[in-house]
Amino acid sequence: MKFGTKLICNSGSKDPHTGALSLPIYQASTFHQEDVDNMGEFDYSRSGNPTRKGLEETIALLEGGTYGYAFASGMAAISSVLLTFAAGDHLLVCKDIYGGTYRACTTQLKDHGIEATFVDTENLEEIRKNIKTNTKGLYLETPSNPLLKITDLKGAINIAKEFNLITMVDNSFLSPYLQRPLELGADIVIHSATKFIGGHSDVIGGLVVVNERSLAKKIYRIQNTVGAVLGPQDSWLLLRGLKTLKVRMDYQQSSADKLARWLSDHKAVTEVFYTGLESHPNRDIHYSQASGAGAVLSFKMESESFTKAFLKELTLPAVAVSLGGIETIVSYPVKMSHASIPEAERLKLGVTSNLVRVSLGLEDIEDIIEDFNNAFNKAYEIISKK
Ligand code: PLP
Repeated sequence: MKFGTKLICNSGSKDPHTGALSLPIYQASTFHQEDVDNMGEFDYSRSGNPTRKGLEETIALLEGGTYGYAFASGMAAISSVLLTFAAGDHLLVCKDIYGGTYRACTTQLKDHGIEATFVDTENLEEIRKNIKTNTKGLYLETPSNPLLKITDLKGAINIAKEFNLITMVDNSFLSPYLQRPLELGADIVIHSATKFIGGHSDVIGGLVVVNERSLAKKIYRIQNTVGAVLGPQDSWLLLRGLKTLKVRMDYQQSSADKLARWLSDHKAVTEVFYTGLESHPNRDIHYSQASGAGAVLSFKMESESFTKAFLKELTLPAVAVSLGGIETIVSYPVKMSHASIPEAERLKLGVTSNLVRVSLGLEDIEDIIEDFNNAFNKAYEIISKK
């Protein structure tokens, strides 16, 4: 089956009992047992729920994996994966990473005796150089958030395999439609399903997919023990969102491409970060491991004050945290996704106060471009009066 067909024809897409073209929301905490010596598949919804199971099987199918797990948020998914490591372990984590993951590594993990070193994974030698005798895992985001840096997945995974490291990839930016790290040899794929999987800015969720049975057992144990599970209503929302993933992504990606090219030629813009642009330094590596550039881009303007004026003057996009919804969302990483990274670290990464991130939605791109143009012009007026 091709990807679009998988999105429609999967075990989460219809009710096996009635044929209803929507898996029911099994809003139940517990399940009657006819025979306590032969318990049924479901006994308690923290341990398993039929709607959640539909979603978990579907994401496993889409990622080309075997076992899927749904969590209450992307951070619950990430934290649960990180909990598979133990005190004394050391992890390598890509430098340009989502702020919440940075916080998890520098606070929670540290408190539990797990050390993380942030490395520039664009440079494979940096990975190899930082491996220690107790290094157990490699955590990647590609394209990275917010500067769309690219890690060569096959190259990084090969090094990880050489040293028996577990490779984890946060695939939230591209979704399994555009990139499937398990097929490239990664061990664990993670999603903030809040983003493109849900797609409608109406649900918080996280997903994990693995292939290997012993790893799956560990993740399930943590899911069931910590209990940060996704509820049946939210599981259903993700199942519904997933059905349109391909058409949403195709449209949003094409808008991102148009906006990136328009921004590149605008005098108010000093730098554009988008893997679809020929000028992206690692474009070829990106296209060797993903089938598209996705719908998120970032760009820089001349100054912080100009950037803030631009944000204030936008009228169509939402100025908000998050990405991947059907509405265009413009984020200000310094105050939003990356606020938990200390300023000195942020600046070293290039996450500066003149940077914005854009996640394209389903509006007509001509209207978004016109709105950006008006906001740039008004920002010039405001700045010149100061
Ligand atoms: N990973 C990435 C790349 C993200 O952008 C985010 C949130 O913005 C997360 C993980 C965390 O997901 P959630 O907000 O669903 O907990």
